[in-house]
Amino acid sequence: MSGAAKDIAGKVIRPEVQAMHAYPVADATGLVKLDLMESPYGLPPELAAEVGRIVSQLSLNRYPVPTAKRLRALIREVMQVPTGCDVLLGNGSDECIQYITAALAREGAVVMAPAPSFAMFSMHALFYRLRFIGVPLRQDFSLDTEAFLAAMAKEQPALVWLAFPNNPTGNAFPVADIERIIRAAPGLVVIDEAYQPFAGATFMPRLAEFGNMVVMRTVSKIGMAGLRLGYVCGRPEWIEAFNKARSPFNINVVTEAVAIKLLENKKVLDDHAARVLAERERLRPELERMPGLTVYPSVANFFLARVRGPAGAGTRLFESLKAQGVLVRNFSGGLPSLENCLRLTIGTPDENRILIAALREALK
Ligand code: PMP
Repeated sequence: MSGAAKDIAGKVIRPEVQAMHAYPVADATGLVKLDLMESPYGLPPELAAEVGRIVSQLSLNRYPVPTAKRLRALIREVMQVPTGCDVLLGNGSDECIQYITAALAREGAVVMAPAPSFAMFSMHALFYRLRFIGVPLRQDFSLDTEAFLAAMAKEQPALVWLAFPNNPTGNAFPVADIERIIRAAPGLVVIDEAYQPFAGATFMPRLAEFGNMVVMRTVSKIGMAGLRLGYVCGRPEWIEAFNKARSPFNINVVTEAVAIKLLENKKVLDDHAARVLAERERLRPELERMPGLTVYPSVANFFLARVRGPAGAGTRLFESLKAQGVLVRNFSGGLPSLENCLRLTIGTPDENRILIAALREALK
């Protein structure tokens, strides 16, 4: 039986899918979890109890309201979505990336993004048989705007992804450069603002100004990663098209009800984000002082750091941190520009102290 499965799967599964790896997520059991840019803070007990009461009263036997009307209305208000714009919800912004790619997947269309950037941009391009072009960032991970504009002029991408700030590098490309890219783009530009709560700057108020731009966000980094909720804001012409690619009940009733409660209490989440921001500024000089480590500028809730040394030095540091009980993200073995790079999510003050002590021990 298993032999038959292997033979048949080998014949019918797309070769590109056979060749790829599923998105890697490490087992964090028992470790200080600094790998996925989650908020390190849970809910205050009273709010957690209130969430429990809300969930206990849900009609789990019923499908969700397909358009999640109440949640969308609240997002518009709380996130200051400009009037005249609409909102699409996804089961995480991961799913929004899928819907946008699906809607634009005309035969032969090109998808473009800086490289390195978020892996799902190219993965969905592959699933929908689009040609993905990653335009290399400079060695210091700054945006090579002229190279990006030249690549756009040559390849005429239907879809451009710009993560602002960028993952995994942590920097935000200059607003003026992004404006030039939006103006020159022949198709849609998605500004992915997953880390906006830590950076401040946003393109949201400028949705009316640029007809070929939409703004994507997520609540994952401000304390709701487990709920899986992302959203895209833009002119109805775009949102209506993405909505056609959406699976009808993609936002489950628990997500909708809990997200409403937490967004009504957004001050709690904002306070948590402010604490992470303060920790980022406290952590930066400590990391910069680490021997053998190059720390890249970050306006997000993580730092990208490169271990100076031969190939393998990054993985050795990753393993040493793990042996000391700290899980970060290792980028060695993927894109050459990220060789020996680790991504360190900012945690609570206690978690960060453990990280610093473990780094000191490993790098001494
Ligand atoms: N965009 C960027 C730039 C990200 O880094 C991530 C998650 N790491 C996402 C989108 C997806 O986030 P989620 O699916 O949790 O909303």
